[in-house]
Amino acid sequence: KVFDPPARLVDVLVVGAGQSGLALGYFLRRSGLSYVLLDAQQAPGGAWQHGWDSLRLFSPASASSLPGWMMPKPADEQFPARDAVVDYLRRYEQRYGLAVQRPVRVQSVTALPNGEFMVITDQGSWRARAVVSATGTWSQPFLPAYPGQGEFAGEQLHSAAYRSAVGFAGRHVLVVGAGNSAAQILADVSLVARTTWVTEEEPRYLPDEVDGRVLFSQATQRYLAGHSSPQAALGDIVMVDSVKDARSRGVLQSVRPFTRFTSKGVEWPGGRFEKVDTVIWCTGFRPALSHLRSLGVVLPDGRVSTTGTRATDVPGLWLVGYGSWTGFASATLIGVGRSAKATVAEIQAYLQT
Ligand code: FAD
Repeated sequence: KVFDPPARLVDVLVVGAGQSGLALGYFLRRSGLSYVLLDAQQAPGGAWQHGWDSLRLFSPASASSLPGWMMPKPADEQFPARDAVVDYLRRYEQRYGLAVQRPVRVQSVTALPNGEFMVITDQGSWRARAVVSATGTWSQPFLPAYPGQGEFAGEQLHSAAYRSAVGFAGRHVLVVGAGNSAAQILADVSLVARTTWVTEEEPRYLPDEVDGRVLFSQATQRYLAGHSSPQAALGDIVMVDSVKDARSRGVLQSVRPFTRFTSKGVEWPGGRFEKVDTVIWCTGFRPALSHLRSLGVVLPDGRVSTTGTRATDVPGLWLVGYGSWTGFASATLIGVGRSAKATVAEIQAYLQT
């Protein structure tokens, strides 16, 4: 008979140790509660490890920091690059001695009759008095449906899988999506390939001299003024150097969507066919919440009903870092600290009663 060890017990179990999990860890280590962070990756850095090679933050380091310790300023004075963010998160975790275990994938969370949770992972089970989900969105890329998509014999990839322009030389590449991912990937790929940029509406650009800090402060003002979707303004394109360069090369031009795919390309409104080799979907992500399906709380739109970060239907469950529905600007490095702090305070109060 295989020996089945008893599940380990902690006060708080955090699923995911990207920027959101680490911000939670920062406040948990000062709370006096026992805690553990379980992360599915081999190494620190969360989703940032999978960003493309030329990815840059859209804000300076000073406006991209987690609680307690500023992200170091890059030597080249530019906005921090992907590897700088990964390095920052790795050092942040070490600096505060956060209790991260990896690679550990949480498969399911269920509520026990005594009010605790049973957390099943690919490395055994845990019991926890409270659970915080901080699994981000990167592992759930979203692709819109287009007529004929199944017939298209060319290559399709999502921005989540894009690394660099290597391999695209000489091709005709459609980049779909109106956000910062699309603009940065278009800038990259257009150095070696013919590109067509497809957006539903004309993209909105920030003036050259402003960056993500302005988006953040505009969104903060909207939020404080009581607007319901503070995140909307965060969709504007920041003119990082690579995107400015694309503009100067004349490739930062977008067209409205095609009507359907064919086997070799796409058909534009009016019926004109055009050959396409590759489509890169920069069309966003959905929350990675499959481990919570066992609690029966995941709604048809892929979210969980919350008040702030607290699940409304399951006592002892919180969700942090998924975007405006789990707290203002919570999917940003600078914004998640506020959500994490409030969440740990709520958990302390919950466990004391
Ligand atoms: P993640 O970084 O995705 O971390 C979640 C972790 O949980 C991962 O390690 C994952 O493996 C793990 N996990 C998932 N499921 C499980 C499971 N079942 N069990 C165990 N572990 C699990 N933000 C900014 O602040 N500034 C920027 O300039 C900026 N630029 C961006 C540019 C692009 C192109 C994109 C796509 C995003 C950008 N963001 C930026 C947002 C930022 O990257 C994400 O919001 C951020 O990575 C979310 O952090 P997280 O910790 O919530 O999730």
